[in-house]
Amino acid sequence: MALLDGKSLAAELEASLKNEVERLSIRPGLAVIMAGDDAASKIYVGRKEQACQRVGFYSEMVYLPADISQEALLEQVQVLNQRSDIHGILVQLPLPAQIDVTQVLEAVAPEKDVDGFHPINAGHLFNGTPHLVPCTALGVMHLLKSQQIPMLGKQALVIGRSNIVGKPMALLLLQEHATVTIAHSRTPNLAELCLQADIIVAAVGKAKLVTAEMVKPGAVVIDVGMNRSEGKLCGDVDFESVAPKASWITPVPGGVGPMTISCLLLNTLQAACQSLALSGTRG
Ligand code: NAD
Repeated sequence: MALLDGKSLAAELEASLKNEVERLSIRPGLAVIMAGDDAASKIYVGRKEQACQRVGFYSEMVYLPADISQEALLEQVQVLNQRSDIHGILVQLPLPAQIDVTQVLEAVAPEKDVDGFHPINAGHLFNGTPHLVPCTALGVMHLLKSQQIPMLGKQALVIGRSNIVGKPMALLLLQEHATVTIAHSRTPNLAELCLQADIIVAAVGKAKLVTAEMVKPGAVVIDVGMNRSEGKLCGDVDFESVAPKASWITPVPGGVGPMTISCLLLNTLQAACQSLALSGTRG
């Protein structure tokens, strides 16, 4: 078993981003909108802000009250859409219950949609011409590619079908010519599908859902899940029992999580370069 170390890879990526930013004529700018005071969201937003500081991006956190109206939230998005110093806009989810999330995500200018959730960006990914790609799925691809893990012709199983992780993950694996299966909450034979998979990506939100009996010897196991169990952060994979069977496995924490943040930075840089019409010269 070898560890797919997201923490180290994210640090490498950040170092190269920092270099690139120093050579740019503009400072990439990321705005994060957060409404309400969800404790976990606050932690995630703080991590994004710190990451921006580490690589020399400008960052702006827009904290809005939990009782904000749909109109006022949309107005904030429009203001950021118009600003030339902001290249990426991220709306931290979840939003308060009174807010129509789809409408807010669709209000973000597609060229600033660094989360890749706008239907235009989802459509580009669907068509096999990705522009801004959801950060977690992109991070997983970077992890796989960093170790030249073969995907072509491999059986890949994505567990979870959310727009945020599962679906974009499946599309990216398909683009690398894997044979992709998507399992979800109504899939009756998860264990059987897992046993056939060369690559398993678990993105469910259920602690230790994937156990050793479900994993084929030598499989690559990517754990996107973030769950609290007995006060500790753990993934969707029972790491202790699965690790000895896997050829590669991501730990939680220190696997996919750090890669999600560095891919957010990567997307922001891409958006900034596009705004300068520089993207073609980045190599
Ligand atoms: P979600 O709740 O939107 O989707 C969960 C998916 O799991 C659904 O498609 C559902 O059908 C499927 N599912 C539920 N029970 C199942 C079961 N028993 N068997 C098979 N499939 C089942 O969640 P999400 O936003 O896609 O996130 C999934 C997990 O990934 C969560 O733990 C979340 O915290 C984590 N996450 C981590 C990162 C990161 O950076 N590491 C980023 C985003 C999400």
